[in-house]
Amino acid sequence: MSVAPRIVHTTCPYCGTGCGVEARILPSGAVEIAGDPNHPANFGRLCVKGATLAETLTLEGRLLHPTIDGARASWSDAIGLVARRFRETIEEHGPDSVAFYVSGQMLTEDYYVANKLMKGFIGSANIDTNSRLCMASSVAGHKRAFGADVVPNVYEDIEQADLVVLVGSNLAWCHPVLFQRLERAKTARPHMRVVNIDPRRTATSELADLQLSLKPGSDVALFLGLLRFLERAGRRDAAYVAQHTGGVDDALAAARDWGPAKVAAATGLDEDLIREFYEDFAATDRTFTIYSQGVNQSAAGTDKVNAIINCHLFTGRLGRPGAGPFSVTGQPNAMGGREVGGLSNQLACHMELENPHHREIVRRFWGVDRVAATPGLKAVELFDAVADGRIKALWIIGTNPVDSLPEADKAKRALKLCPFVVVSDVMARTDTTALARVLLPARPWGEKDGVVTNSERRISRQRALRPAAGEAMPDWWILCGVARAMGAEGFDYAGPADVFAEYAALSGHLNGGERDFDISACGALGAAAYERLQPFQWPWRKGDPSSVAPKRFFANGGYFTHDGRANFVATPYRAPQSRITAKTPFLFNTGRVRDQWHTMTRTGVAPKLSQHFAEPFVEVHPEDAARVGVEHAGLARVSNGHGAVVLRALVTERQQKGVLFAPIHWTDQNASSARVDTLVAAHVDPISGQPDSKASAARIDPWPAAWFAFALARERPKEIAADYWAVARTSFGWRIEFAGKQEPTDWDAFACAFLDLDEARGAVIAQMHDSRAGAHRWLVMKDSRPTGLLFVAREPVLASRALLCAEFEKSEPRDARALLAGRAPAGVLDRGRTICVCHGVGAREIEAALVAHDGADANAIGQLTKAGTGCGSCRPEIQRIVKDRAERGPARRCAPLVHALEPAE
Ligand code: SF4
Repeated sequence: MSVAPRIVHTTCPYCGTGCGVEARILPSGAVEIAGDPNHPANFGRLCVKGATLAETLTLEGRLLHPTIDGARASWSDAIGLVARRFRETIEEHGPDSVAFYVSGQMLTEDYYVANKLMKGFIGSANIDTNSRLCMASSVAGHKRAFGADVVPNVYEDIEQADLVVLVGSNLAWCHPVLFQRLERAKTARPHMRVVNIDPRRTATSELADLQLSLKPGSDVALFLGLLRFLERAGRRDAAYVAQHTGGVDDALAAARDWGPAKVAAATGLDEDLIREFYEDFAATDRTFTIYSQGVNQSAAGTDKVNAIINCHLFTGRLGRPGAGPFSVTGQPNAMGGREVGGLSNQLACHMELENPHHREIVRRFWGVDRVAATPGLKAVELFDAVADGRIKALWIIGTNPVDSLPEADKAKRALKLCPFVVVSDVMARTDTTALARVLLPARPWGEKDGVVTNSERRISRQRALRPAAGEAMPDWWILCGVARAMGAEGFDYAGPADVFAEYAALSGHLNGGERDFDISACGALGAAAYERLQPFQWPWRKGDPSSVAPKRFFANGGYFTHDGRANFVATPYRAPQSRITAKTPFLFNTGRVRDQWHTMTRTGVAPKLSQHFAEPFVEVHPEDAARVGVEHAGLARVSNGHGAVVLRALVTERQQKGVLFAPIHWTDQNASSARVDTLVAAHVDPISGQPDSKASAARIDPWPAAWFAFALARERPKEIAADYWAVARTSFGWRIEFAGKQEPTDWDAFACAFLDLDEARGAVIAQMHDSRAGAHRWLVMKDSRPTGLLFVAREPVLASRALLCAEFEKSEPRDARALLAGRAPAGVLDRGRTICVCHGVGAREIEAALVAHDGADANAIGQLTKAGTGCGSCRPEIQRIVKDRAERGPARRCAPLVHALEPAE
């Protein structure tokens, strides 16, 4: 009798889209992942990261038991030590001498307990979160304009808008399912227009009717000009502005001088393009503005948010179908963190630390003597305080600040100096765990239970799929253990349901509707009802049955300010603080790639996700590259006074002149020198405290390699004797790119050590050498199957990585000569760089289909090759290839959307 799979409904742990996931647990224990067709965020769709979640359910690299000073410890010893050191430090130096640095990866219940412990029991507000680096400017902008951190609109406004304005958001790669909703909406309603405002041309640009590649950091100037234009075009919603807002005159005064010529000078945009955007915005009632990290991660981030909101307030376009400003969050529970007061300047349930009435509500509810009364240190300040000794005990939970903070080497030095560092993580080896005295094993996605809130205020359950591995425990459990060991009361929860019910009850406690965040309908939820809890949007007040209706805010006013009116905010333009100089003549921008998440601790173990980009890179415009002598596919050193990295150079016109771009994901665990946040200057927004991750002054120089190498191996090499290296997981083992400044004296000895040939008993070793050209190749075959490969050359190695990886994956005997030549054996198509991960379709297959079917569009390519018919994350790249062929003609090779790290292409 066959046993039916067990179905668990849960939520994706990556971006703030918050897609519902349906996990099928087969009797064998294997897990199959699909989108939850009933979840209102994604209606069954997942992007490639969500779709490959099963690949991350591995014990590889997991932290499975507590350690103290590197030695295995019991939970009671580890918790006892953490509690004792925090208690002693507080007794000796006061509550502000300790801190927690937490994460938007945490579930709401974990976050709530961490806040209660720090702000309620310890009595300090020194708890901040990596969400400070992600969306703190949106929080501050919302609070300035609306009086509370409220996102006024919902996802379905994407489908109802006539104009969608994307600002600082590569939605196609960073929130792919939202992008797909937009793409389908535009197909269904062809009159819909999309404007993409971003210094770079990205995958998102493929959908845009208008691309505005403005100068980094000049968004405020663009929106000041828009406000002025709207006034002159008579687009003021006079009734709305008069009845529901205040401060419009000051905002208009700040915009008064921003005519198109001045906007053009500040933004670098063509005046005609600026007018086209302004006219579009003015003429379209249903305008929906989506913004993300390009807005938030700025030293003027809060002003950028308010400059956008001002235009929506002025036209009365808020909280209405298809009309409103909409911040999309990066992390899976950035919103939950905001709700529980995860930022150092907030109290739980959107209450204010500096509001005595709110403090009293929380104090009485928690039953504590006092609640922290002054804001704590924000992320960058917090690590400064660690560095100068004010913070003497630090607990880092679920984040990797050694890689993600600006001036990251400074953060690393600070942790080395800190007398007591505790890290809770799911992984044993990260750049941050390496500096901890105590490591506490936390449960990852798939093993933990709780709730998360997505970008449209929708609270969904994350549910465990399987028992916890090793001794890993939930964060709330660990925090409660430490709290009790420190002598705190009120931390005796039976499970996450208990925590959630308390939190929900607090949200409604003494809340007569004057506070926005209220989920008191869940205040008496028992464990069984919590288990069944369906996704819902807040607010969900006690007695309110309408838990499933989409809820928008502010169409008829009702702001959470003292007078119930929204605030226009005057936002004078400030250019980025980093000034380019002769020594640092570029602005350095950081961001994300489609298939990786944060510092790769999870996505890095999924072989499929490393196919798209297997190596860290820097994008540079061709004219800049030529000027500084950097070559495509060569290596480049990017540096400034804060740090230096060595990255693969991708020379592309998609990057604007004078600006460099590099992704944030690579760490010392998978590359020799790619921690790009070491270069990010710690310039913070004066209101939100959010650092500017998009515009640091830097330089780029060629990194002169004497030799380059590419290798495939079944085991990760114990040591890579090279000045530059990057490793990526594959389905059969590892892929390694490396290079050196000096050639080894004996290449055979080098290959012998690298490929561990002394241990390769019974193996056949094929070789090719051209010593004059400096080209050497070794191939290790066992039972006619390749087990190791090393190609060396004086130039970037010309060989198809995709082809060779595919050959290593096969179980049947392979042709050694063809492999050594790096070319496809007879009858085998070299697919080229993987574009469609779901169906394993490469760029060359798509090109071949275009050659065979002239005029084919992306949909036809899908029918011909299946590319783009899985999760759909790759559709913008397919569209780019199709467009390139159309523009360049059939005789020319298609220019890849993102350059392949395959020099042969
Ligand atoms: Fe996860 Fe992708 Fe959905 Fe984001 S868009 S929540 S990464 S499946």
